[in-house]
Amino acid sequence: MIRERAYPVEPWHVRETRLDMDVLAQSESVFALSNGHVGLRGNLDEGEPHGLPGTYLNSFYELRPLPYAEAGFGFPESGQTIVNVTNGKLIRLMVDDEPLDVRYGEVLAHERILDMRAGTLHRSLHWRSPAGREVRVNSTRLVSFRQRSVAAIRYEVEVADGKPLRLIIQSELVANETLPPQSRDPRVAAVLESPLQAEEELTTPAGGLLIHQTKVSGLRVAAAMDHEVSSPARTSVGSEGYEDWVRTTVACVLEPGQQLQVVKYLTYGWSSRRSLPALRDQVGAALAAAKLDGWDGLVREQREYLDEFWDAADVVVDGDPEVQQAVRFGLFHVLQAGARAERRPISAKGLTGPGYDGHAFWDTEMFVLPVLTYTHPAAVRDALYWRFSTLEQARERARTLNLAGAAFPWRTIEGPESSGYWPAGTAAFHIAAGIADALRRYVLVTGDRDLEREIGLELLVETARLWRSLGHHDRNGDYHIDGVTGPDEYTAVKNDNIYTNLMAQRNLRTAAEVAMRYRDEAFHLRVTDEEAAAWRDAAAAMHIPYDEELRVHQQVEGFTRLQEWDFEQTPPDKYPLLLHYPYFDLYRKQVIKQADLELAMHWRGDAFTTEEKLRNFLYYERRTVRDSSLSACTQAVLAAEVGYSDLAHSYLREAALMDLHDLNENTRDGVHMASLAGAWIALVAGFGGLRDHDGTLSFAPCLSSRLNALSFSLQWCGMRLRVDVRGHDTTYALHHAAPDAVIELRHHGKPVRVTCDEPVTEPNPPPRTDLPMPEQAPGRAPLLRLPENPA
Ligand code: BGC
Repeated sequence: MIRERAYPVEPWHVRETRLDMDVLAQSESVFALSNGHVGLRGNLDEGEPHGLPGTYLNSFYELRPLPYAEAGFGFPESGQTIVNVTNGKLIRLMVDDEPLDVRYGEVLAHERILDMRAGTLHRSLHWRSPAGREVRVNSTRLVSFRQRSVAAIRYEVEVADGKPLRLIIQSELVANETLPPQSRDPRVAAVLESPLQAEEELTTPAGGLLIHQTKVSGLRVAAAMDHEVSSPARTSVGSEGYEDWVRTTVACVLEPGQQLQVVKYLTYGWSSRRSLPALRDQVGAALAAAKLDGWDGLVREQREYLDEFWDAADVVVDGDPEVQQAVRFGLFHVLQAGARAERRPISAKGLTGPGYDGHAFWDTEMFVLPVLTYTHPAAVRDALYWRFSTLEQARERARTLNLAGAAFPWRTIEGPESSGYWPAGTAAFHIAAGIADALRRYVLVTGDRDLEREIGLELLVETARLWRSLGHHDRNGDYHIDGVTGPDEYTAVKNDNIYTNLMAQRNLRTAAEVAMRYRDEAFHLRVTDEEAAAWRDAAAAMHIPYDEELRVHQQVEGFTRLQEWDFEQTPPDKYPLLLHYPYFDLYRKQVIKQADLELAMHWRGDAFTTEEKLRNFLYYERRTVRDSSLSACTQAVLAAEVGYSDLAHSYLREAALMDLHDLNENTRDGVHMASLAGAWIALVAGFGGLRDHDGTLSFAPCLSSRLNALSFSLQWCGMRLRVDVRGHDTTYALHHAAPDAVIELRHHGKPVRVTCDEPVTEPNPPPRTDLPMPEQAPGRAPLLRLPENPA
C-alpha cells in the first residue's frame, strides 16, 4: 500500500503540516537530527506520545548473547546493540494545571519543519487545554555540526488567550526510558531493558548531569544540561536530581501576549576508558563552549557549516520537484550520518533509529562513501580510519575462519562480527572489496597519498590476502571464489558470485599496484614480489560466469539453470519474501532480493560491453524483487546506462522517496541511509553517467523525458567540477582551481579538457530507439509513477 504524500514538496524544507499519530514513529526518523556523533530522533519535546524515543551516541552499544539453536564453529557468540542513551530532549509544559499533551485538549495548529539549509528542526504548536486555556509553543532544535557533543533547543511559550496563565516548564535528562515492544522482523533492533546503571547525578541551579555505565560493555556516558531563561514576569528556576533523572523547573505567571523563553544546552560524552571525573569535566567543558556561543552563535555556525556543504554538494533537478526535495533530504541525512563520526562507523540507519541494532554494513563503503567522496571527502577519510581501526579484529576473524588477511564483519559497531546468520553474514565476503574500492576512490578523488601510505596499503594488502586464501586456481588455471554470498541475499553460499569476483579482481590489482608504489612499507608488511605476482595472477585468471546459450552473465555459477520463482503464485502481501518463505526455497530459485549483477555492471562497468549490459539488464530485471532498499538506485543507474531513462527515473524516485513516502513501511526504525545516498547515485551516476573506473572521470549524460536539466558539482583533487546537463548538451566548468589547472575527462567516450578559462559544452547523443521493452518481475514494477510530463 502506498501512502499519500505526507510532506508538501518544497525545495529546502521537509514540512509536516499536521500531527498524524499513525506515522509518529516514521516522522521521528525523518526529523532526526544528528552530526554523526550525537543523534536525536524527532520526538516531540514533551516526550509523549512517541513512536520510539531515541537518543544515540555513535558506537555506544551494549553486548548481548547471540543464541543459536545449533551453534557451529566460528559462529560469533556476542552481538552489539546500540543503546538508547539519556534523553535530553525532554521539555514538558504544565499549562495552568494540565500537562501539555497533544492527545488531550485540542491541537489548533501543529507544524514541524526540517530546514536543510539551517540544520534545524522547528516546531510550532497552538494548543487548547481540556480546561480551555490556550498556548502557542515554538521550539527549535539543533545538533551542532561545529561542536560535536552539543545539541540545543530554544523553547518559547506564549499565552494565546486573553487571561494571565501559570506555566511550568520541566526540562529533563532521563535515562533508561521504557521502549515500546518490537516486532520479530529481523531488521528491527533487539530491545534492551534498562541498559544503563547509574553512577552519578548532580544538579546546578539551572541544570545538571547524569553519568551512567552499561552493564556488560562497560561504556560510560555523561549527559549534561544547562538553561538560559528569559521571561518578562517573576520566574523561579530550580533543579533536582535522582539516579535516572535530573529536572530543571521554570515557573512563572504570564500575562496575555507575554512570552517565556528557555534555551536548553545539552552535551554528551562517552568513553570506554576515561574516568568518571574526566567525563564529567568533558561534558561540563562542552556546555561552557556552547553557552559561550549562545543560541544565536550556534544557529549561525550551523548555517555557515551547511552553506559550505551545499555550495559543494547541492544537486539541482529541473523537472521533478519531489526528487529535488528528496535528493537534498538524502544528502542532508548522509551528511548528518558522517559529518562528525570521526573514526567511528556510519551505520545503515545513521543515528536516526535503532534498526539493524545500529550496525554498519557494506552499505557504508558501497553507497554512502561514494557520495561523500565527491561531496564531503573529509568524512570519508574518517570512515576509512574507522575501518582501519578494526583491522586487528578482522585479522583475528580471518584466522578463526582459517583464512589469511582480514575478514571484515558483515555487521558491527565496534569491529567484531555481530551477524548470527552466517549465510548472509560471514559468507558475504564482498565487504572486503567494497572497503578496498572506497579507499581507491577516495585516494583517486582527493589525491590523499598520506592516507594511502598510512592505512590504505595495509587495508589493501590484508584484503588481497583474504581473496588469495579464499579463492583457488582450478586445474585449468581459472581462479574461483567458491561458497560465498554476493549482495543478493536470496542467492547464498554459491560459487563465483560475479560481483564478488569482479570487485575482488580490482582489489587484488589495486593492492599489487599500491604495494609497488610503497615498496618499503610493503616490505614491512612482508609483501614479496611473488605474493604481489600471485595477486595479479589471480586477478587475471578470475572466472566470470557466463551462459553461452542465453548470452547473459550469470550472477553466480549455474544461476541461469536454477528453477524460476513462481511469481504468478506470489501475492503482493507476501513481500518482502524473506518474511514469508523459507530461505532454502529462495536460495535454490532464480529470485533476486537486490541488484547484484547490476551492481557489478555499475561499479565494474569496465568489465562488460554495452550490449552485454543491455542483455544482462533485461534478464535480471525480470527476476529482481527489490526486497532491499539498496536495489532501486543501482537499477536506476543501469537502466539509464542501457537506455531506459524513464525507467531509471522511476527507480530514482523509489530510492529517493523511500523515507519521505515510507515506501517499505519501516522508516520508523530509522532512515535508509544507502537508499538516500542512492538518490544522489541515481542522479549523478545514472543521468550524469559518472564513472571513475580507470582513474579518470567519465560522464555519459542523458536525461529522462521528464527532466529538463540536472546540475551537480564534484570535488576533484581539491578543485570543483560543475556539470550542467540539459536535454541536448552538457557543460563542464572548473572552479576553485589554480589558473593553469586542467581536468581531463571523457564525455560519452570522447576526451574533453576542462580548464579555468571557460566552460566546455558537448552535445549529448540522442537516446536509442531500438530497445525492447524491459519487464519487471510480475507485480514488482517501480513503486512510484513518473511526474507529469513538463511539456
Ligand atoms: C540488505 C543488505 C544491507 C542490509 C542493511 C539488507 O536488507 O540485503 O545488503 O546491507 O539490509 O542495509
